[in-house]
Amino acid sequence: MVSWVAGAVWFPYRAGPPARVAAWAARTRTWLASLAAAPEAGVDLVTDYEITGEPAGAPAPWWAADLEVARVPAPVTGAPLAWRFRAPRVEPARFLPWLAARLRAPIERRPVVELAAEPGDAVVHCAGLGARELAADEQLVPLLGQVLITGCGEVDRAVAFTDERDPDALFYLIPRRDELVLGGCSLPWPPGAPPEVDPARTARILEQARALGLAVGPVRHARAGLRPYRPEVRLERDARDPRVIHNYGHGGAGFTLCRGCAEEVAYLMTPR
Ligand SMILES: Cc1cc2nc3c(=O)[nH]c(=O)nc-3n(C[C@H](O)[C@H](O)[C@H](O)COP(=O)(O)OP(=O)(O)OC[C@H]3O[C@@H](n4cnc5c(N)ncnc54)[C@H](O)[C@@H]3O)c2cc1C
Repeated sequence: MVSWVAGAVWFPYRAGPPARVAAWAARTRTWLASLAAAPEAGVDLVTDYEITGEPAGAPAPWWAADLEVARVPAPVTGAPLAWRFRAPRVEPARFLPWLAARLRAPIERRPVVELAAEPGDAVVHCAGLGARELAADEQLVPLLGQVLITGCGEVDRAVAFTDERDPDALFYLIPRRDELVLGGCSLPWPPGAPPEVDPARTARILEQARALGLAVGPVRHARAGLRPYRPEVRLERDARDPRVIHNYGHGGAGFTLCRGCAEEVAYLMTPR
């Protein structure tokens, strides 16, 4: 389950289509921000700097929707311009158990081999990359991500950075309460192959942190995971079996879109 590997900061990365994603992301941001009042949920608000190559005066990005963004110098070495905004950051190891504890029924863990064979009035299909087989969907592909978990070092734990100027050398730093998450990459990966950590990528990520003047702590773990990427998130009722509602293909934005997508699923399930 890739959700344990994620950063997981609010940002609509590698997910489409833009109009639906912006609406789901905005709805999710409001919900996650409200959870920051309950520390046990593992959600905190951070200040994000999204470093891009656009000039000063560039129009606000498509994902900003109703979000307040400012084009400012990022507080890192070289001071390139960045979009600055406030957004929630989730700690999966706290958030996922917190969510599970709120379910009204226990989770039953077993392989599903055919959606049509599942009992019940409704089957909500959220198998992530497993949907490649379950829905025979070849548009869904793995994109490899790699993160390092480090000590906090001298880094301000209220501030996150993403440097997207070079897509082949994606870099981000996401602070958590007791550690930092450093990334990353987004690479096409052979379907069915397990994700792999590359020590050369680890070295590149650490070098980028150093070059930006970010004094991170020692590396505790390196982890790799596969984003379930689809050119467009599939959130729709199945044409052949109307009991089935598909909800997969959230790419690098599963946490960013979770609540907005869940609300749309609930809407589709409501009898009218
Ligand atoms: C390195 C990295 C960093 C990321 N950072 C962020 C971030 O900062 N912000 C963000 O929003 N997103 C981030 N993401 C993306 C995010 O992790 C994913 O979009 C999200 O976790 C996908 O959730 P999912 O529930 O669809 O898939 P999963 O978490 O993979 O869950 C799918 C579940 O379905 C089960 N399943 C599959 N097939 C079957 C079957 N046949 N029968 C029964 N069960 C099945 C699996 O076992 C699994 O439990 C990141 C991803 C990576 C790899």
